[in-house]
Amino acid sequence: MAKQVTIVGAGIVGICTAVYLREKGLAVEVVDRDPPAEGASHGNAGVVSPWTCVPQSMPGLWRSVPRWLLDPEGPIALRWPYLPSFLPWAIKFLRAGNVAELPQIADAMKALNRPNIELYRQLLQGTGSEHLISDSFYVHIYRDPAEIDLKQLGWQLRLDRDVPLEVVDDGALHELEPALSPRYKAAVLIKSQARALSPGGVGKALVAKAQDMGAVFRQTGVNRIAPQESGGWRLQTDDGEITSDKVVIAAGAWSARLLAPLLEQSGLNLPLEAERGYHLILQQPGITVNNSIMDTESKFVASSMLAGVRCAGTAEFAGLDAAPNYRRAEIFKGLAKRLFPDINTDDPVEWMGSRPSFPDSLPCIGTVPGQRDLFAAFGHSHYGFGMAPNTGRITAALVAGEPTDVDLTPYRMARFK
Ligand SMILES: Cc1cc2nc3c(=O)[nH]c(=O)nc-3n(C[C@H](O)[C@H](O)[C@H](O)COP(=O)(O)OP(=O)(O)OC[C@H]3O[C@@H](n4cnc5c(N)ncnc54)[C@H](O)[C@@H]3O)c2cc1C
Repeated sequence: MAKQVTIVGAGIVGICTAVYLREKGLAVEVVDRDPPAEGASHGNAGVVSPWTCVPQSMPGLWRSVPRWLLDPEGPIALRWPYLPSFLPWAIKFLRAGNVAELPQIADAMKALNRPNIELYRQLLQGTGSEHLISDSFYVHIYRDPAEIDLKQLGWQLRLDRDVPLEVVDDGALHELEPALSPRYKAAVLIKSQARALSPGGVGKALVAKAQDMGAVFRQTGVNRIAPQESGGWRLQTDDGEITSDKVVIAAGAWSARLLAPLLEQSGLNLPLEAERGYHLILQQPGITVNNSIMDTESKFVASSMLAGVRCAGTAEFAGLDAAPNYRRAEIFKGLAKRLFPDINTDDPVEWMGSRPSFPDSLPCIGTVPGQRDLFAAFGHSHYGFGMAPNTGRITAALVAGEPTDVDLTPYRMARFK
């Protein structure tokens, strides 16, 4: 009989894993307390970059943090009562940005991202939603051309890894993006990328595909996972118990909480932070954005999607359970106007979701130390939409007991011992 695999979490990572497991003929059930593709995987900025290799924590970043924190429109926010819980993670985060370790992190990020456009196109083939992944540049915009310095470490990490970059002037920039304000005078283009016209739509199309292939999606919360004496796993859910031969934890920012009781014996305490991001969709924008645009000043991404122009980004630290503060999304109204003076910002839709972030910007992929038939596929921080197809492909191979073609050392959970 085909082995039963239960995936906890129907975000883009769990969904991609389900498709690949079905391709291998394994019986799959995906369990999520919410409908599929509604978490971070719904509301992200839709950047699909095969070239992503620059982690969030970079040397010298700490110098900008106080200014960002004090600016109510700044890219990061901290709810001060959360400070004691946040501090240990923040220290690990800042330590992760050291020059000696960056090249390995960059290689590991790129290894996961490199085939993402091709994999998405293969996954979506025949679903009728192929158009949701569109060719794109990643346009990093600057007001002052003199600010562009390709000798900076971030650009150097990219250039060392053959990322196709081009610096363009005022004229070329506005030819690419006519709606952009004239205050922006230059840009760095990262070429040969893609963007999602509806990240949630991509997830839902792949859910339908997985279902057609025989995967089952069940809506219920998982409260506890425990090994059975006879082998396999027992999952306590809001609607009773599920037993399964193998379990994949793809529960995004909630994964560490779910795994904590099982990790106690191995001395692992996963530093997984809910890095809460917001978006604002301007539904009747009256303008078009042709690519993914990164505002290098305010650190957010703007992109035209099916639902309108989505401005997405910012990081808020307040823990997993705090209610959203939609003022963080409303900030995008003013920021969008600054980018696109003619944009119509009436009737916006706001959203908040939690990025699952480890200090080193790398996920955990692989077996869970000390446990049989339990697999990790979580912690993709700012890059999970792009990293999901390859994570799903690798995880499915691991679950099926096949060799993987990617060195999993950088993603092992034991790095947090
Ligand atoms: C504002 C913003 C912009 C972003 N932009 C980009 C981008 O442009 N490109 C990119 O690559 N990435 C981007 N990201 C990051 C990306 O969205 C995430 O890394 C990715 O979606 C994580 O996917 P996931 O499947 O791991 O988690 P999620 O999508 O969060 O899915 C996890 C699922 O697990 C479920 N779950 C959790 N616990 C339980 C439980 N106990 N029982 C049952 N179900 C449970 C949740 O309900 C949820 O549906 C962005 C994120 C944000 C917030």
